[in-house]
Amino acid sequence: MDWPTGLLVHDGKVLGIDWSVWKVVGWLGNLVFFSRFFVQWYATEKLRRVVVPTAFWWLSLIGSVLLLIYSLRQRDSVFIFAYAFTWIPYIRNLIIHHRHADAHLECETCGHSCPPHSNFCASCGAPLAGSAAKTAR
Ligand SMILES: [Zn+2]
Repeated sequence: MDWPTGLLVHDGKVLGIDWSVWKVVGWLGNLVFFSRFFVQWYATEKLRRVVVPTAFWWLSLIGSVLLLIYSLRQRDSVFIFAYAFTWIPYIRNLIIHHRHADAHLECETCGHSCPPHSNFCASCGAPLAGSAAKTAR
């Protein structure tokens, strides 16, 4: 075995794995699913508070569907059950996030996106269109 190529390719296997289309699907699922941790960690470190960005739910959904497809192909009941229902909360969280984003109010003065039911802009303090503060005037 020649070092270092022998570590990567040995007995016709790359990284000790017998590659096939289904192995690529399974490993792609693993990579996508695992990458969500870095996305969430980065978002949390960036904002200095615990946040779960939309990308986390997309990566969860795509990764778990790929892993479900792979486990169905392998007919592995343990992994089929592990990924059979996880898509439900992922899709639900994406729907809730989308509805929440749609309910945000845009400040006409500065363009800042304000949380739903806000009366005043969090950035410039201007009354928001459709808010109780504006309609009361
Ligand atoms: Zn504003």
